[in-house]
Amino acid sequence: IISDIVSTENLESYVIGGFVRDIFLKRESKDIDVVVIGSGIELAQKVAAKAGNPKVSIFKNFGTAMLKFKDLEIEFVGARKESYNRNSRKPIVENGSLEDDQKRRDFTINALALSLHKDNFGELLDPFGGIDDLNNKIIKTPMDPMITFSDDPLRMMRAIRFATQLNFKISDVTFEAIKENKERIHIISKERIIEELNKIVMSKKPSIGFKLLDESGLLQIIFPEFHKLKGRETRNGISHKDNFYHTLEVLDQLVPHSDNLWLRWSALLHDIAKPNTKKFIKGIGWTFHAHNFVGEKMVPRIFKNMKLPLNEKMKFVQKMVLLHMRPIVLAQEEVTDSAVRRLLFDAGDDIDELMKLCEADITSKNEEKVKRFLD
Ligand code: ATP
Repeated sequence: IISDIVSTENLESYVIGGFVRDIFLKRESKDIDVVVIGSGIELAQKVAAKAGNPKVSIFKNFGTAMLKFKDLEIEFVGARKESYNRNSRKPIVENGSLEDDQKRRDFTINALALSLHKDNFGELLDPFGGIDDLNNKIIKTPMDPMITFSDDPLRMMRAIRFATQLNFKISDVTFEAIKENKERIHIISKERIIEELNKIVMSKKPSIGFKLLDESGLLQIIFPEFHKLKGRETRNGISHKDNFYHTLEVLDQLVPHSDNLWLRWSALLHDIAKPNTKKFIKGIGWTFHAHNFVGEKMVPRIFKNMKLPLNEKMKFVQKMVLLHMRPIVLAQEEVTDSAVRRLLFDAGDDIDELMKLCEADITSKNEEKVKRFLD
């Protein structure tokens, strides 16, 4: 339908961005971005009329329109050129050509366009070598990365998020520019940062993203409590383990067991208080006494700072941190004699069941019930 309209009206129009990238990566994608040299809103209205009038949502301020068709969400926008001022990631927008529009994209792999006009239907327009970068698994910016990241620092989080989700490498020049611009992340809202961080947490191998966040210097800014887990200290020849890498290992191990975001956050936070409770006792060595209790108290502060929801999800994470989650993660691990732990272990990846069980306060009275349940 779109191709019919743009061909009859002789408009220049393209599918662009993530949808095109995902075709080449053979990933399923339901969000389609259509760019037109002209008005995106007008094109959306014409397409809707021809498609039997599905609902069009118009965002006048952004000059975009969104149309839902079957299970697809199609967004229409006029090709644009963007410029930025230093204190905001909100661009100043003018009409532009396809290439202007591709230049404003964050990464070469997100700047691919396929023509919708019948004269050259399906022709790929790739002025920045996005296909080569897809084949070589490289994340890099179409323009000078120092400018790209300074203009919109959220792109630094996006670079690390895509590198994690796709298991791609961020090019050296691009990664250096992230390091240089890390302080600019302060102009980005916490909500946008956590959105990207949660995509890293939900990926197949979250450790990739956390290591990149650490290497770039962003982790220290956006999640200092987690950064503090890094490192090993040695006294009298005795060292403790590096809780940063240990936590990432636990998180990666959890992935095949559960795709529940809050259980993954529990994994992330299960040792969070260790840097605060760490002590070296002569004759005994390193102890982290009561770190789970302190961790439970730290959860609300971390959730508040990171603008995560302060509701029953947070309470679940608190409880999991308190109870420690290793028995669930390591299915092979021997079950301890604690009835509560056994119960958690038995719930396995039935997370709904686990959530319900965790809602009940775990008191000794409760523990009796738990024991009966297990018998
Ligand atoms: P996903 O659906 O996994 O988030 P996506 O690439 O579709 O991936 P969107 O956030 O939907 O991500 O963005 C769609 C397209 O818009 C991107 O492919 C990219 O071309 C462009 N884009 C999105 N955010 C930015 C940004 N901050 N700076 C520049 N271009 C962006």
